[in-house]
Amino acid sequence: MKDLIQSKVKGNLVVISGPSGAGKGSIIQGILKGIPNLWLSISMTSRAIRGKEQNGKEYYFITREEFEKKIQENELLEYTEYSGNYYGTPRGKINEHLQLGQDVILEIEIEGALRIKELIPDAIFIFIMPPNMRELKTRLENRKTDSEEKILQRFKRAYQEINEVTKYNYVVVNDVLELAIEKVKAILLAERCRVDRIEEMYVGSLEEVLHESLVDNKSIVNQEREI
Ligand code: 5GP
Repeated sequence: MKDLIQSKVKGNLVVISGPSGAGKGSIIQGILKGIPNLWLSISMTSRAIRGKEQNGKEYYFITREEFEKKIQENELLEYTEYSGNYYGTPRGKINEHLQLGQDVILEIEIEGALRIKELIPDAIFIFIMPPNMRELKTRLENRKTDSEEKILQRFKRAYQEINEVTKYNYVVVNDVLELAIEKVKAILLAERCRVDRIEEMYVGSLEEVLHESLVDNKSIVNQEREI
């Protein structure tokens, strides 16, 4: 019998934002391990490598000049300047992965997220929130990779971003990491089941369906007799 859903369902574009220190990275690693058919887009940045980061893993690290060339050549879907550095999403393979039915994850800040909302309004927007501002400050300080001035800059930016949360579809508070991962997984799985994401469905006429199920039943009965 024919499958009810005929054409491959296209993947969702998922934008995950939240202030630095909210724990987006750990949540994303958790969902990548937890559900299949997810693809994480790697951004480009002109900021310096931090701690144990590797080129091509967390980001493609390039110079400001190289980044400006990418802008001119229209190679970026969106980009922004954040804390004195450029960050941008390469157009690259996003569409290819969506067509394969994979959800594509963009981990970007709010300006970029709003740009994506203009370009692709049916993308899913998730905001990761720290439990409170004091905890956020502690997390930023504990990283020990940024200067005091950068920490303050990031903290101020976080404050602004948190006030924009209503522009997103979902908000997840990252108090207990495992719980936050479960919540984001639940959002992605539920979004995959939305009826308006189905491109083509085949039910057939009632006679056809009844006839086919009758034939199927007979062949099962016959198989059982043969055994
Ligand atoms: P970090 O320096 O902490 O890795 O990132 C700083 C901010 O830049 C984070 O809020 C992160 O989500 C954002 N970001 C990372 N990649 C992109 C990108 O491609 N586009 C935009 N708009 N923001 C990005």
